[in-house]
Amino acid sequence: MRTNIRNLGILAHVDAGKTTLTERILYATGTTHKRGEVHDGTTVTDFDSQERDRGITIFAAAVSCTWDGHRINLIDTPGHVDFSDEVERSLRVLDGAIVVFDAVAGVEPQSESVWRQADRYGVPRIAFVNKMDRVGADLDAAVASIRERLHPVPLVAHLPIGQENEFVGVVDLVEMCTLSWVDGRCVEGPVPEALQTEAQRRRHILEEAVAERHPAAMEEFCTDSTISAATLATALRDLTHSGEGLVVLRGSAYRNRGIEPLLAAVVAYLPSPLDVPPVQGIQDGTVTQRHADPAEPFAALVFKVVATATGRLTYLRVYSGMIQKGAIVLDVEARRTERVARILRVHADRHTELDQASAGDIVAVIGPKSARVGASLCAPKAPLLLERPRVANPVVSVA
Ligand code: GDP
Repeated sequence: MRTNIRNLGILAHVDAGKTTLTERILYATGTTHKRGEVHDGTTVTDFDSQERDRGITIFAAAVSCTWDGHRINLIDTPGHVDFSDEVERSLRVLDGAIVVFDAVAGVEPQSESVWRQADRYGVPRIAFVNKMDRVGADLDAAVASIRERLHPVPLVAHLPIGQENEFVGVVDLVEMCTLSWVDGRCVEGPVPEALQTEAQRRRHILEEAVAERHPAAMEEFCTDSTISAATLATALRDLTHSGEGLVVLRGSAYRNRGIEPLLAAVVAYLPSPLDVPPVQGIQDGTVTQRHADPAEPFAALVFKVVATATGRLTYLRVYSGMIQKGAIVLDVEARRTERVARILRVHADRHTELDQASAGDIVAVIGPKSARVGASLCAPKAPLLLERPRVANPVVSVA
């Protein structure tokens, strides 16, 4: 189901912990069975050897994992400023993003540049303040620096339990429960007596910020002096989708703390392909919209091409229609047809073969020999040259 897909990027300043977080997400979702470590070069998303050697994420890779009945397609975007072209290419195909901040450093220069790029592409975001275990981790200062330098309305959804080495869990301020990490597992429990007052105070701050911006939440707030968990969750989702608020979560990727609540927030607050505006393109000289509907003609954008031992993997974001294994597609700009011999879903270091792929999904195909990054692949009878999705006043150059 398309509502169960999240096409997601992780954006961060280099060193904020994006690779480690990606790794932990793959581990938590059962996509990998061994935790990779950045410092020993075993992370699975950074599979390019040059990237391993340099210890930074240069080449974006897309991996699929499942969480709570949802397919999360994780597009690993590079954080290094020299490669911002690649960041932009990846942003074209995302429906939402996690922005990772360092709990000690707060907003760093590259966080600002990726933030602006995400603004440009209208990508809804949630924030993950990472490295909560580090000495000097300052929760409120990190949130203040996000507010001051990036100007979103932070909607802080977690009250941390313990600091630095003693960071053992969070109070989820929406559900008003604790999530703590015991023997590497996330365990839910009631809010302890000692944290009740502070949790209530923080929940009230969250409710006020949400009520100010969301009519249904405001109505409940005025009537009941509080907002129910269900309305609060809906409001947080709506505010995330519209970009009017930024849900802020906390954790430590390295210590594997906060990953499950983050995944729950991805599912709850970030949009599915059906929640984002339809993609636009030029068909026969006319601006045409395509919806994330399998019944519409096939249209996809190539956002990554990687030479691997399996073959030339052409990564596609399918915007509309369906594609079957063996289908002939048109590379619109190159005016060339190509055969899609195989369709793969890539899960970090392995893949599964698919018979078809459908609107909203991200897959890799083998067969197209020359389709380049940025190419529009379409049903030959309905050629659509895709624009950059969701950019204000997009410029379309027709070849
Ligand atoms: P990236 O450049 O954003 O991909 O960051 P990495 O994932 O490569 O992490 C940079 C460094 O920070 C590595 O040495 C990680 O082990 C370390 N790191 C990542 N997450 C955490 C965390 O939660 N706590 C601490 N203390 N270190 C972390």
